[in-house]
Amino acid sequence: MASTINVERFLADLRELAQIGATADGGVSRPALTPVDIEAREWFRQKIIAAGLEYVIDGAGNQSAILPSDPPSPKRILAGSHLDSVPNGGRYDGALGVLVVLEALRALKENGLVPPVSLEAINFTDEESAIMGLMGSRAMSGQLSAEDLASARLSQFELDSRLAAAGISRESMLSARRDDVLAFVELHIEQGTRLESAGINIGVVDAIVGIRALQVRLFGEAAHAGTMPMRLRRDAMWGAAQFVLRARELVMRDFTPGVCNVGIIHAEPGAYNIVPAQVTFALEFRHGSEAEMDAMQSELMRLLDDCASEFDLRVEVEATPPVVPAQMDESVMRAIERAADKLGLSRQRLLSFAGHDTQNMARIAPSAMFFVPSVAGISHNPNELTSDADCVNGANMMLGTLLELLKDYQQ
Ligand SMILES: [Zn+2]
Repeated sequence: MASTINVERFLADLRELAQIGATADGGVSRPALTPVDIEAREWFRQKIIAAGLEYVIDGAGNQSAILPSDPPSPKRILAGSHLDSVPNGGRYDGALGVLVVLEALRALKENGLVPPVSLEAINFTDEESAIMGLMGSRAMSGQLSAEDLASARLSQFELDSRLAAAGISRESMLSARRDDVLAFVELHIEQGTRLESAGINIGVVDAIVGIRALQVRLFGEAAHAGTMPMRLRRDAMWGAAQFVLRARELVMRDFTPGVCNVGIIHAEPGAYNIVPAQVTFALEFRHGSEAEMDAMQSELMRLLDDCASEFDLRVEVEATPPVVPAQMDESVMRAIERAADKLGLSRQRLLSFAGHDTQNMARIAPSAMFFVPSVAGISHNPNELTSDADCVNGANMMLGTLLELLKDYQQ
């Protein structure tokens, strides 16, 4: 008999979890390792125990439910996401990706399945940057250092007390690296509009974009904003303004679906009556591969030089540490696609423009992820919504994908 998820139980879990850290406007607020997040973690632990699954927590506070193989396998297939949220966030971001795996493991266990390799449902600690972002998966993939912990987004005292609340410490975080992961898969809401507008059920992520951020400085010359003739001005703002709109045209014309953004801009000396001598702005751009990022960067820099020389400006560019694109594993993507085909769900490959724990897991194991549609693309917002039907599709997809992965990875 084929395993199927229990739709009522799964949707009831989704609603029950949304009560923890619920906000008046229908969202949730569960920043990592704050008392409400600790409450959600305890809720998850109780659900795991009630289901008769094994509960484990690692040194990074990542919580797992395990459906063990017999005999116990040295390696495991992992799937999951995160229960923490941004402040005043939505109910689905992360939470849905954990609950679909919990439900899949419960359904398999009820059906009497003893998998050929152990299956693990995971809740990663601090995905949403209350502490540093993607913290649990960074620790698990060996990419977390003592320096990272020292530069966390909260005071060192607050960091230590939050870690203690979850029963972990800096030392345990730094020894949480694992090498027993056979494959990893994550379900997440799309947080965009591509699936909804195309009427597609499932987005199969083929890469998580890289992010490069540059601080750009344009230098002109300060002048009296009334007396200096327009044709003689070396106005740094003109160069910046020219660049911002031309960069938009360039990226839309030559680099779709890549994106760029100028989110900070600052003029100096900064007065109504002084022609700006210097403009500093933050340029960020994202694309799915290093080759595309390189091409994008060289075209954007060429454009910047053109805009600067048009107004006789000097340019300085300073790069901040990049996030490299994460390519998803072809065999795990195919397992997701086979599951979709068996369920009769439409699917499409696409890029993820947001960061996810999967990008870290891809460093240590074959990994991929899939999206279910977000209504109107709204996310990190109390109005975030994925329909019950799409949530149920997601749970069936997770169950199907795990079964496909078991065929690929049985030892
Ligand atoms: Zn998320």
